[in-house]
Parts: sequence; C-alpha cells; structure tokens
Amino acid sequence: MQINLKPVFVNKAPSSTLAINEDVQKRWASGKRVLHMGFGESRFAVHEKLQRALQAHACAKSYMPSQGLPELREAVAAYYSDKHHLLFNADQVLIGPGSKALIYALQLALDADLFLPSPSWVSYAPQAELLGSRIFYVPSRVDDGYSFDLKAFAVTLEQSSNPNKLLILNSPNNPTGHMWSESSLRELAEFCREHNILVISDEIYFLVEHGKVKHKSIAKFYPEGTFILGGLSKHLSIGGWRVGVALLPDSESGKLLMQAVKVIASEIWSSVAAPIQYAALQAYSHDPEIEAYIKTCSRIHGIRTKFLYQKLTELGISCTKPLGAFYLTANFDAWADPLREIGVESSAQLARYLLDQHDLATLSTDAFGIPEKTLSLRLATSYLDMEKDEDSQRLTSLLASGVSEQEFMSEANHPNTHAAIGEFEKFVERCNDAYTSAARAL
Ligand code: PMP
Repeated sequence: MQINLKPVFVNKAPSSTLAINEDVQKRWASGKRVLHMGFGESRFAVHEKLQRALQAHACAKSYMPSQGLPELREAVAAYYSDKHHLLFNADQVLIGPGSKALIYALQLALDADLFLPSPSWVSYAPQAELLGSRIFYVPSRVDDGYSFDLKAFAVTLEQSSNPNKLLILNSPNNPTGHMWSESSLRELAEFCREHNILVISDEIYFLVEHGKVKHKSIAKFYPEGTFILGGLSKHLSIGGWRVGVALLPDSESGKLLMQAVKVIASEIWSSVAAPIQYAALQAYSHDPEIEAYIKTCSRIHGIRTKFLYQKLTELGISCTKPLGAFYLTANFDAWADPLREIGVESSAQLARYLLDQHDLATLSTDAFGIPEKTLSLRLATSYLDMEKDEDSQRLTSLLASGVSEQEFMSEANHPNTHAAIGEFEKFVERCNDAYTSAARAL
C-alpha cells in the first residue's frame, strides 16, 4: 500500500537531541565507551515526596479539565507570583504534557512569523516548519559569545512583511548557558512593545541558576505581550513525567489565546495524566525540602558545568560562559585548517568525528540555527558521571558531606568528566600538531 506523506514530512528527521541519545544508548548496549554530552537530561533522583505523592494518586483515573487540575493551576499561579514577584491568577495558567507541546500549541494558535535568536533550542524551528510558519534567525557572532543584538533584530524584522511577529527567548539558555540581564530584557521589552512583537519566554531552566546571576523574566517589563513557559523537567529531573506550564497575560488577548490553546489541548491530548497532576501539586507547594533539593541539584549542575568550562578554556577551546542550565557551546574554528585536511568542514562532521575517534557524544549546533560551517558544538554536562540513579545519589550525598568543590570534581568522583576532558586534550593536541607540521613543511 502506498502511503503519501504531507510534503512537510518528506526527509524530516526526528529531533536531533533525542536521536543522539538513542544512538548513544545503542552504543552503550553493545558495550562501547561513550562519554555522553549529547543529551540535556537532568539525572537526579525523583524527590521522595514526589514519589509518595504520585503513589498516593495512582487511582486518580478520570480525565482532567483540558486547562489543568484547578488546584494545580492555583498552585502554579501562586508559585510564579512568588518567584517572579508578579501577580498571576489560576485563569492565566495552562497545564500541558511538557512545555514542548505547549510551545507547539502556542505556535499553532498564533498567526505570526517566527523570530529566533541564533542559537536557539532545537525544537522551535522544526515546530514552526511543521506549521508552515516563516522562520527568521537573528544572526549573532561567535566572537561575541552569540549575544543577542537589537540592531541585528531590527534588520531581520525588515525581511518579514507579516504584521504579526513572535519571538522566542530562552533564559537560562540551551545551548549557551547564558542568562539575560535585567537591563537587556528591559531594552528588548521596550523594543517589542514598540514593534508589536509577541514573546514566548521559555523559562524551563529558571530554577537552574549557578549562583551569581539571578533569573529575570521579560514578563516583568512586558507583561501584556509575554507568554511564560515552564515545567518540572529540568529543576526536578522529571522530564518523563511530562508536566509543562504556560502562563498567559491577564488581558482580553490573553483570554483569547487561552481559549484557542484549550481547543488544541482538548482536541489533541485531552489532559495531562491525572496522577501526575496531583503529584505536581507537591512540586508547586513551596515545600522547604523540595525547594532545598532544587537548590542542591542546581548547585551541582553549576559546579560541574563551570568545571568543564574552565578545563576546556584552559585547553584553548573557546566556550560560552555558563550562568545557568547545564550547557555550554564550544567553538573549534581556531582549528578549521587541520580539520579540513581530515574532511571535517561542518559542525555535524565534527560531532561525528569526535564520536568515532574520541568516544565524545556532542551535538552539532547547526540544529540550533548556527550556520553549519561554524565549528561549534553544544556540550551538556547533565549525563556525565550521572548515568545511573546511584551515581547522582552518591554525588548529592558527597556534596552534602561538606567536601570542597575541588574534591567534589576530582577524578575519583567524576571519572567520565575527566575522561572527556582528556579526550578533548588529545584532540586539541592532534590539531595543534597538524599546524606545527604544516608550518615545518613551509
Ligand atoms: N525548552 C528548552 C530550552 C529545552 O531544553 C527543553 C527540553 N530539552 C524544553 C523546552 C522542553 O522540555 P519539556 O517538554 O520536558 O517541558
């Protein structure tokens, strides 16, 4: 029987982050060594109180309202009001099966051209492609740490004749680990207001701060045009539970959009699983133990990601400085010549080479909207030395025992992180040797 796909699905591959993870799992299953930096999944154990809350509601079997369990929406509104120092009510909140599905639902509901900072998380653009929306990347510079430039944004806007425009922001950022400062958010908010641009503020990592820089939401400066997205996948390591939240503006337009997204929810996923919604109540209840656990996990992400940043920088690899989440973007353009000699001319080829030759699983940044010839890779620290629940439990107890950060990051405690850095060192030496022999041959 012949199956005819819609043109948008022809030659379309599944999300590159999920694909690399499946590839790594297969290599592990066949006994191969892989130092996994390709997948951003927080690996801490499910907090005991959340486990108990889920067990206690295993018998909740009815469909829930499409917008979400009312008590959970109340709790989410109160939680965000407290954390963001803004006032939200339960009618503004929608609960969905992960923030990914909610971002898709918003893109489906809004008739707008999509603007994305370069780099941007891998799924925003493919979602827009599935919907037939036009996508415009705002260019950035590697040597400027990919910072968002308002002038470049203004120039990019001129390419679109659609009066309806949507920007997706993400702070803390996947793939750079950057966080937007209050002053740049304020400036961007004024710009968006002036140009009538709606903003999806993807704040899924907002509680994964590394310490010094505190998360700020553009909603503070642009409440009427901002849709906040979040969930429990990152700071509580329960991506598989599929809990996402959206907070829409408290206005007539916000209500109109909520109505449209409720139509989508009711026609596609009906509601998030009932036991999960009851258990999620616990996560949004300001429980001091859970709040402390979130802080501990984020601190550990911070220590590990900053360690990788420091070591790679010492090797001469140019990296974005991580302030939140568990990523950094590393650039290898400095070795473009020797890499070309061995057939590596794009970030995808570089990622493949590192996996084949050095057992390093990384993600090429072309999927994030960075030109493919730029030799940049996204490195995630969340999996290294946390492959199993026992590993993350061991590391959490170790930090709680009061060891220094140096001891915490020692080779004995983080063997795979050290092995990965060792492989990068070998790779850089190879590239530098190629330069030296080329210079000698002259
Ligand atoms: N936004 C960003 C930036 C992400 O990194 C992810 C997960 N990798 C998501 C959204 C989606 O998370 P979830 O669907 O689990 O809420």
